[in-house]
Amino acid sequence: MNASTSITLTDGPTETSGLQFAVTRNDAARSDAEREEILADPGFGNYFTDHMVDLCWSAKGGWHRPRVSPYGPIQLEPSAAVLHYAQEIFEGLKAYRHEDGSIWTFRPEANAARMQRSAYRLALPELPVEYFLDSLKQLIKYDGAWVPSAPETSLYLRPFMFAKEAFLGVRPANKVAYYLIASPAGAYFHGGIAPVSIWLSDRYSRAGKGGTGAAKTGGNYASSLLPQSEAAEHGCAQVLFLDSVEGKYLEELGGMNVVLVYKDGTIVTPESDSILEGITLESVLQLARDRGHKVEQRKVTIDEWRVGVESGDIVEVFACGTAAVITPIGELKSDTFTVGDITAPAGELTMSLRQELTDIQYGRVPDRHNWLTRLDA
Ligand SMILES: *Cc1c(COP(=O)(O)O)cnc(C)c1O
Repeated sequence: MNASTSITLTDGPTETSGLQFAVTRNDAARSDAEREEILADPGFGNYFTDHMVDLCWSAKGGWHRPRVSPYGPIQLEPSAAVLHYAQEIFEGLKAYRHEDGSIWTFRPEANAARMQRSAYRLALPELPVEYFLDSLKQLIKYDGAWVPSAPETSLYLRPFMFAKEAFLGVRPANKVAYYLIASPAGAYFHGGIAPVSIWLSDRYSRAGKGGTGAAKTGGNYASSLLPQSEAAEHGCAQVLFLDSVEGKYLEELGGMNVVLVYKDGTIVTPESDSILEGITLESVLQLARDRGHKVEQRKVTIDEWRVGVESGDIVEVFACGTAAVITPIGELKSDTFTVGDITAPAGELTMSLRQELTDIQYGRVPDRHNWLTRLDA
């Protein structure tokens, strides 16, 4: 199936979970030169490291068979439930290389806990937090050299879980797989951070009332692709979704949360059961509170945005998520109106919160909230 034929060795138990990972080294691993060439300009999501981690789950046996193996194709039966009914969840976090060469990640327990909440909603088994953390450490143990060191680069970590049982009946699967793969990520913005235009989708919703909007599951992304293409046709980078019931309250973008900044320094972000609770958002709100900003999580109408920007009451708008950290929003467009000024520079608070958060992640300032976890020790 892949080019590797290595012997299997077993790692000793780790301090955290006691899991014993069976390790198969990738004999076809990229050379140092090949890896460095990729790391010089990785983009996002294009290249994958030499190894992956996986665990199996069965209704009878629980979690078992932790492995590190060469990155490569997964064998699935065509009847695997995930391919038909989308019983699937994922996570996204980054490994950062600090100045001294050490490798860290940001609030991984929060990702692990969120993965458990997503699992609950998708009727998947909950992966213990220690197993999640161990999987990250194991991958970094073998692929640590893939964490780039240029400014604002990282190794994107993608844990995911899916129903692999070969069964076409509709019920929660009795066989599930958890995988972790990793992909080097370049600096998101080349040549300065430019505000983006956002398209307001008034025809499509991302998630419905009582649906899976608060879970990190592929189906939410599948339903965002058509509106996302519509946004691109209008020259916009992303779609803004409204609530599915009244079509007037802000939810979020396809994969990022939204924040409005008022003239008096108040920071407002939408509250809704169908929004994905972003860890970047929560962290940014904490940093803002630390600086004395008033933070409100409440229902926000699209009119509040439009009127607020027009009147000058809302002075900055940004989106946030792990991949791009913070993206300034310059302009909101729809079939009926356009507000904002795409030629204006990114907002001051937007940029300084971005700076502070990335300074913490890259170890350039003290980690006063204890958000970092070392992965290579
Ligand atoms: C992952 C995700 C976010 C951002 O979450 P972070 O934890 O900040 O990366 C926001 N919205 C959606 C729909 C997401 O899937």
